[in-house]
Amino acid sequence: MQLTIRGKLSVLYTTILFGLLTGFCVILYSSIAYSLKSKSRNELLTYAHKLSETFDKESQSFSDLPEGDFNANPLYWFRIIRPDGILYHPAPVFSVMPETASIQKIIQSSKVTHWFYDFEDKEQWFSSVVFPINEGLQFSGWVEVVIPVSDEKRTLERIGFLMVSLGLSIVMFLFFSGRFLARKTLAPVEQIRKQVDTIYEKNLSQRIISPNPDDELGQLSGTFNNLLQRLERAFYSQQQFIADASHELKTPLAILRTQWEKLAEQQDLPLDFRVRIQSDVEELARLSNLINNLLLLASTKEIFNLNEFPVINLSELVHSLNDDLLILSESKHQEVVISITENLEVNGDKSRLYQLMLNLADNAVKYTPENGKIVIELTKDNNMAVFSISDTGIGISPEHLPFVFERFYRVEKSRSRQSGGYGLGLAVSKSIAEAHFGTISISSVPGTGTTINVTLPLA
Ligand code: ADP
Repeated sequence: MQLTIRGKLSVLYTTILFGLLTGFCVILYSSIAYSLKSKSRNELLTYAHKLSETFDKESQSFSDLPEGDFNANPLYWFRIIRPDGILYHPAPVFSVMPETASIQKIIQSSKVTHWFYDFEDKEQWFSSVVFPINEGLQFSGWVEVVIPVSDEKRTLERIGFLMVSLGLSIVMFLFFSGRFLARKTLAPVEQIRKQVDTIYEKNLSQRIISPNPDDELGQLSGTFNNLLQRLERAFYSQQQFIADASHELKTPLAILRTQWEKLAEQQDLPLDFRVRIQSDVEELARLSNLINNLLLLASTKEIFNLNEFPVINLSELVHSLNDDLLILSESKHQEVVISITENLEVNGDKSRLYQLMLNLADNAVKYTPENGKIVIELTKDNNMAVFSISDTGIGISPEHLPFVFERFYRVEKSRSRQSGGYGLGLAVSKSIAEAHFGTISISSVPGTGTTINVTLPLA
């Protein structure tokens, strides 16, 4: 599973603190357990020692033994085991504690060092010491002392329970507070991301504003801004280059075209020569068109402020398009149907908007066979003017459709080229629509036809 940085930070933070907390609890618990155990064992040893001192070497017997009965001395019980295994003075309670060590085990154990063991009986806990009695070189048996340690055990259990439940609550708290802290710390990242998301080629001059310019994120924003500056410069110098080159080519091409047009009209030249010149003139016309489009694409960045555009009557513009469209479609005997909602006004550049519509109309004629139909509509939808143009042409297959607005994209390279396109018409139309804060969209069914919708904000 891929965690977000926020998730990673909170997991890391929680894990580290959980580790530290667990370590601390384990150490605390072990030292409490150790000191409780040492206390009870010291107590056992004290009793065992006292008892072993009651051995009288002379009479080879124990004198002054305290009462070993449970009732008589509830603090501890004891029994004395002679080397031959015979019990001496056992507290009666030993007979009802089956978990105590067997006599067999005791007489086989060390005659020099004492040993401890713990056992549980009827949900009560006990600790025991088996202590060898040595008087000088003489070994006289073992004394075993048992004390109840249930209270210590329960205290430990309570501490353990408290630590676990408190630990779990602390971990939960740490996890959620960690998430909260991580969210707070990373909030500026989200702010920066949102700002970067709004930067396109058209607003490359925009810069990222960071809440704190001196922290790491502020520095990152600074780096982004430097990158944007470099990109902006590169982008605009490229645009400028296209604009300059197009501009330089425009005039000589126009001169060439006029001269060759005149030449083509000279009747004294051989016919086949005039035909070749005529075809060159058409090629020159296409080149002029390409250069105009390039100039337009390179300069749409300048037409950016809607308030600077004059108010124009879009309905009238579409009426004038109708005349041009009729001329274009005449040779192909196409039917043109046009429906215009009158007096729709937009803020815009008249010649560029006309260029947009003419590009679309030109395509409709180009890609619709003879006797096909072209429908143009201008309607109003809320505060937008909607210009739509549909044809019954060849259509565009779905795999090409997403790319037709890209520069120099042609669906069927060879055919489009013959019919005069460089693949810039739709790119130019899109650029003009967007410069007017409008949109352009296309839908098409191969073999049935294409519809293009352009929306423009009404004035
Ligand atoms: P071109 O100048 O080659 O027509 P455009 O940018 O205007 O370039 O169009 C891009 C491609 O989209 C064209 O090559 C053509 O294949 C396709 N296209 C555009 N309009 C239509 C249409 N109305 N019907 C079918 N195909 C179209």
